[in-house]
Amino acid sequence: MKFDKSKELHQRSKQSLAGGVSSHHRMSEKPVPLFFERGKGSRLYDVDGNEFMDYFMGNGPAIFGHAPDFLIDVVGRELQRGQMIAGQHDLEYRVAELVKEAVPCADLIRYGSSGTEVVLAALRLARAYTGRSKIIKFEGHYHGWADDVLYSVGPSLEEAGPYESPVPVPGSAGQSRGSLEDVIVLPWNDLDLLTKTVDRYGADVAAIIMEPIPCNTNAALPNPGYMEGVRELCDRTGVVLIFDEVITGFRIALGGAQDFLGVTPDIATFAKAVAGGFPLSIVAGKQSVMGSLEDGTTMHAGTASGNITSLVAAEATIHKLKENDGAAVKYLHQIGEKLIDGLNNLAQKHEEDVLIQGLGPIFSMTFTREKALPDYRSYKRNADQDRYDLFRQGMLERGVRMPDHGKWFLSTAHTEEDIEQTLDAADETLDSI
Ligand code: PLP
Repeated sequence: MKFDKSKELHQRSKQSLAGGVSSHHRMSEKPVPLFFERGKGSRLYDVDGNEFMDYFMGNGPAIFGHAPDFLIDVVGRELQRGQMIAGQHDLEYRVAELVKEAVPCADLIRYGSSGTEVVLAALRLARAYTGRSKIIKFEGHYHGWADDVLYSVGPSLEEAGPYESPVPVPGSAGQSRGSLEDVIVLPWNDLDLLTKTVDRYGADVAAIIMEPIPCNTNAALPNPGYMEGVRELCDRTGVVLIFDEVITGFRIALGGAQDFLGVTPDIATFAKAVAGGFPLSIVAGKQSVMGSLEDGTTMHAGTASGNITSLVAAEATIHKLKENDGAAVKYLHQIGEKLIDGLNNLAQKHEEDVLIQGLGPIFSMTFTREKALPDYRSYKRNADQDRYDLFRQGMLERGVRMPDHGKWFLSTAHTEEDIEQTLDAADETLDSI
C-alpha cells in the first residue's frame, strides 16, 4: 500500500500548520499522518486511492459510521434556520429533555463544543459546590488537554513514582504550577488506597474524576464493588464524583457507563457520540451541584454553545439510539463481541498472547501474557506495545485502520461482512508477524 501523496501533503502542511496536524494525537500516526478525501459508513478513502475499514470512527463520535444520510439530511435542512444565533431556541430544551430522560445524573445540563471544555466546567462546578480546590484523577485516564487534568496520562513507570503516592507527571510544557498544586494522582481500581487518600486530604478535595471505563488506557472494567465503594466514599466525605463519559456516553448504553454500571455520579461529561459526529459536548449533573449555574454564581459560557447544527444532530442521534428499544446500542455490543471473539480465536490459532478488555462498542486489545490488566501500571508493565504497533501496521497494509494503544471503536455501519473481512486481515497479519 502506498502513502506517497499523504507524505507529500504532510510536508506541505508542515509549512503552515504546526506539526502538519490539527491535534497532538494525530502527529504520531505511522508511517505518516494520513490525508483522507472522504469517509462513508465503515470506510475511509485516502488521497492515495486506498480504502480502509475504519475502527477510529473519528476517535469515537461516528457512532453511525461516516457521513450517515439521516444526519446529513436533517442538519442540512435545519441549517436554513441559521447557525449561531446567540439566543435561546427550541432545540436547546428539547435535547436537554432527551438527555435528562436518558442519563441518570442529569437533573440539569449545559452545552459546550469539546470534551475538554465541559471537563473544565465540571471541575469548576465541583469547586464551587464544595469550596475546596484539589482534584483526584487516575493514572492513564485522559480528560482532555487542559492544565488541571493533563497529568499522568501516559507516564513511564520510572516517572510515575511510588504506587501509594504517584508523582503527577505533566503531559505538556507550559502547564501552570497552580494546577500541579491542586492535583492528586492515584492508580485506579484500588478502593483502599483511594479511601486512605481521601481520608488524608478530604477537607481539600473537591472532586474525584475518572473515566468509568478507562478507554484511554485499555478499557478495564471496574473491580466488583469498586464503583459502589467510590460512590459511598464520596457521599461520606462530601467529595463530588465526576464521571468523564466523553467516550462511554451514548455508546456503552444510552445513559452511558453510569447506566450500564448502575452507579450514579454527581456530574458527568459527554461529547463524541452524543451528536453522531458533530461537535457537541455536555456537562450534566445533579440539581445540587449544578445549582450554582442557575443563580449565575458559577460562570460557564461559549459562543458556539447550543449552536443549531450540533443540537439538530444530537436530537436526531438520540432519537435514533432510542428507536426499537435501543436496537442501535444492542447492535454495537453484538457486532463488537463478534469481532472480539474472532480476534481471540485467531490469537489462539497463532499462539499469540492477547488480552481484550472492554465491551463490544469500545474495546482494547493488548499483546500480553496477563489474564487481566486492571489499571494503568499493570498495563504499562505488561503490554507489548511494539508487537501491537507491528500488528497495527500489518492491518493498515491490509486496509484496516485502528487507533494506537489498542482501542477499537465500532459503529452501526460495521456489518457482519466487515467483521469477516477484518478477521481475514487479522489472520494474515498474525501469520506474517
Ligand atoms: N475525556 C475523554 C475520556 C476523552 O477520551 C477525550 C478525548 O478523547 C476528552 C475528554 C477530551 O475531549 P475533546 O478532544 O473533545 O476535547
